[in-house]
Amino acid sequence: MAIIGFIGLGNMGGPMAANLVKAGHKVTGYDIVPAALEALKAAGGAVAASASDAVKGAEIVITMLPAGEHVRQVWLHQGGLIDVVKDTKPLLIDCSTIDVESARVVTAAAEEAGMTMLDAPVSGGTVGAANGTLTFMVGGDAGAFAKGLPVLQAMGKNIFHAGGPGAGQAVKICNNMMLAINMIGVAEGFILAEKLGLDWMKLHEICTTATSNSFALSNYCPAPGPTPASPANRDYAPGFMTALMLKDVKLSQAAAEATGVATPMAALAQSLYQATADAGDAAKDFSVVFRLLEGMKRA
Ligand code: NAD
Repeated sequence: MAIIGFIGLGNMGGPMAANLVKAGHKVTGYDIVPAALEALKAAGGAVAASASDAVKGAEIVITMLPAGEHVRQVWLHQGGLIDVVKDTKPLLIDCSTIDVESARVVTAAAEEAGMTMLDAPVSGGTVGAANGTLTFMVGGDAGAFAKGLPVLQAMGKNIFHAGGPGAGQAVKICNNMMLAINMIGVAEGFILAEKLGLDWMKLHEICTTATSNSFALSNYCPAPGPTPASPANRDYAPGFMTALMLKDVKLSQAAAEATGVATPMAALAQSLYQATADAGDAAKDFSVVFRLLEGMKRA
């Protein structure tokens, strides 16, 4: 049993913290949204009035925040968490998906204060978070990884040590770049199939056993019907917001720019998720790109 402070109880952090409670850990959470605190209370966790209060006495501190700017703010700003816990020296774990540079800056600040930090972004979506079946891709020192492993195992099924600081974020950015492209591919297939007079259920049944099979097709179909748990069946309520996917594709493009790698499909995907967000669907699940594509005319 570990004493854990958990900051960021949103679509992912909420169910992840609940799984830590279920596994017998003592979890105190904080989020700026009151409803998120209520959900953790209902799951048996404790809540605090501030991030600093949530991490007092913690052996492990976990953050699950939207983007690099939030992570820098929570850990580094005046009265930030690194300062708050510098005497008790818990293990620090950031599970948010952020740019490699922010991950390295925060890790360096933690090390300077005599602590170790893991970047441990996840894959598996809100269903994986709720079921405790997430994949964790972890960057950081091997000793810290070994120490964090039992806690990560309470939230996930596949836990990988990807390499040194920032390596977890690097894997995650590549993973989401591939998913962003693949989701658009699946959406285009379903839109074309309908125009060809095919039934979506039949298309899904056949293609999930054929070479186009993928996570987007088999678990998260962007067309309503074939996969009952996917956001397409509830007016694209997230899930994983378009705004967050757009953030991740932009992170991949910044990394590609920095390394001189050509990623033309990801560049096109970025423009399509941007158009989806601009059309008012930034807070919908990213698979809502399906609706944007449905409404487009062939040039
Ligand atoms: P979310 O917006 O639902 O949750 C983020 C939470 O952080 C919110 O509840 C917000 O109120 C809180 N927050 C923001 N600033 C804060 C602060 N200063 N102090 C305390 N709380 C603060 O987002 P999410 O879907 O849970 O995603 C979180 C991270 O996980 C993102 O980086 C995302 O890219 C990544 N991710 C999401 C999914 C998914 O399917 N949703 C999957 C894998 C990875």
